[in-house]
Amino acid sequence: MPLAPPRPRDTPFLPTDTFADDVILITGGGTGLGKAMAEGFARLGGRIAIASRSEEHLKSGVAAVEAVGGKAVAIQMDVRSAESVKAGFDKAEQLLGPVTILVNNAAANFPVPAEELSANGWRAITQITLDGPYFCSTEFARRRIALEAPGAILCIGATYAWTGGPGAAPSAAAKAGVANLVQSLSVEWAPDGIRVNGLMPGVFPHEDQPQVLKDLPGRVDQEQRIPALRVGELHELAWAATFLCSPFASYITGHNLVIDGANWLRRGLKFAPFEPVRDWARSKKP
Ligand code: NAP
Repeated sequence: MPLAPPRPRDTPFLPTDTFADDVILITGGGTGLGKAMAEGFARLGGRIAIASRSEEHLKSGVAAVEAVGGKAVAIQMDVRSAESVKAGFDKAEQLLGPVTILVNNAAANFPVPAEELSANGWRAITQITLDGPYFCSTEFARRRIALEAPGAILCIGATYAWTGGPGAAPSAAAKAGVANLVQSLSVEWAPDGIRVNGLMPGVFPHEDQPQVLKDLPGRVDQEQRIPALRVGELHELAWAATFLCSPFASYITGHNLVIDGANWLRRGLKFAPFEPVRDWARSKKP
C-alpha cells in the first residue's frame, strides 16, 4: 500500500491570511516546483515576485498565481549575476513593497559523466545552483537588516547534497554547498530575526522538466522504485515550503527538511546491480 495521497490542493492548510503582509520572491517561480510554491503562497494571501530569465516562464508563473486569485509580478533576473539580483530586488520592491520572504528555487542540472563535462558546463550549473542562492540571500538579508525587519529564506536543495550524485556531480556539489549555506546563514542572521531553512525534494515529476531529466531510468515505473510507492505531488511540496516560511515555524531555522517518501534512505540490505555512470551514458547515446 503506498503512502496515503495528499489531500486536495485547495484544502485549507494554514490560515488564509498567513502571508497577507508578505512579499515572496521565488527564483525560478515560473516552472515546476517554483510555480507550485508560488501558487501555495498566493493561496495564503502572499504577493508574489516571480524571478527568472525567460519571458515565457515569467508569464506562466504570473498566470498560475492569478488563476488562484493571487497577485504576482514578473521580475527578469539572472541569479548568476549579483547586479541582476540587486536590480531584481529593487524592481520587486518598487512594484510590491520590500521582499519579506525569499525562496531560492532556481537551479540547473543535466546528467553527464564528470570527465565529459566542460569547464563552462561546470560553471553554468554551479553558478546558478550555488552562487545564485548566495547572491539572493545576501541581497535579501542586507535589505532586511537595514530595515530592522524580520524575514525568512527557504533554499530548495536535493538529498544528493549528502550522498553525492554520480552523473550529476556539479549539481550535487552545489546542493551540498546550499545545505551548508543554510546552516551558516541561519546562525549569522538569527539575531536579525531572519530564519534560513532548506527543503530537499525527492521525485516530483512535472511537465516543465527538460526531456533529458524526464528520460532518466526509472522515470517510467518510478512508483515501484520509491519506498512510498508513489511520487511526490507538487502541492504537498508547497505545503512544506509555506509552513517553513510561516510564523508557525517561528523557532525552526538552520534545518534542511527532506520530503521524499524515504527514498534517499532506501539502500538497505538488498544491493541493486551497479551500473557505472559512463556505461549508462553510452547506452543512451544514439
Ligand atoms: P525547473 O522546472 O527546471 O526550473 C528551474 C527554474 O530555474 C526555471 O524556472 C528557470 O527559469 C530557473 N532558472 C534557471 N537558471 C536561472 C538563472 N540563471 N537565473 C534565474 N532563474 C534561473 O526545475 P524544478 O524541477 O521545478 O526544480 C526546482 C528546484 O527543485 C531546483 O532547485 C531543483 O534542483 C530542485 N529539485 C527538484 C526535483 C524534482 O523532482 N523536480 C528533485 C530534487 C530537487 P528561466 O529559464 O526562466 O531562467
